[in-house]
Amino acid sequence: ARTASKSGIFLPHLIASLEQVDQTYIMVKPDGVQRGLVGEIISRFEKKGFKLTGLKLFQCSKELAEEHYKDLKGKSFFPKLIDYITSGPVVCMAWEGVGVVASARKLIGATDPLQAEPGTIRGDLAVQTGRNIVHGSDSPENGKREIGLWFNEAELCQWNPAQAPWLRE
Ligand code: ADP
Repeated sequence: ARTASKSGIFLPHLIASLEQVDQTYIMVKPDGVQRGLVGEIISRFEKKGFKLTGLKLFQCSKELAEEHYKDLKGKSFFPKLIDYITSGPVVCMAWEGVGVVASARKLIGATDPLQAEPGTIRGDLAVQTGRNIVHGSDSPENGKREIGLWFNEAELCQWNPAQAPWLRE
């Protein structure tokens, strides 16, 4: 939270900052990178008003992909999923904000892009579950876990966006 100025102009922002700030791990999957959708996807979260705290292009190992998706280990599509995620570079992102986990899931849309609402990333830009271009954590706990998995502490930045007082009263 930023410090209150003597004029009190940031006081409402200080009060708002008492709300729970969450983190989510968002990843542009290899198909999103290959299709040139990195900027478009980053832009959706940026325009919404969330805070970017980590960003990198990264070729992940089979081990990391398996750890990330460990809850899906028993599924028939698991080997294909690991091949897909490791098939090329991904863009790893950490985003922060009040309600960011649930909101990011809404911005991303349903797992099956054909079921995803128009206006969502998957609804606008993809056609198949096996090529659904983007990942978003499904809970604040998983947000923390996944950011810890994909980023070192030194790769994450704490900063105060200049627009903060214009986003939240
Ligand atoms: P989400 O990514 O929407 O949270 P899940 O956690 O259910 O969805 O699944 C994780 C990822 O596994 C999906 O985004 C998709 O890439 C892949 N996946 C899920 N179900 C299938 C399926 N039936 N066939 C192929 N891939 C799948």
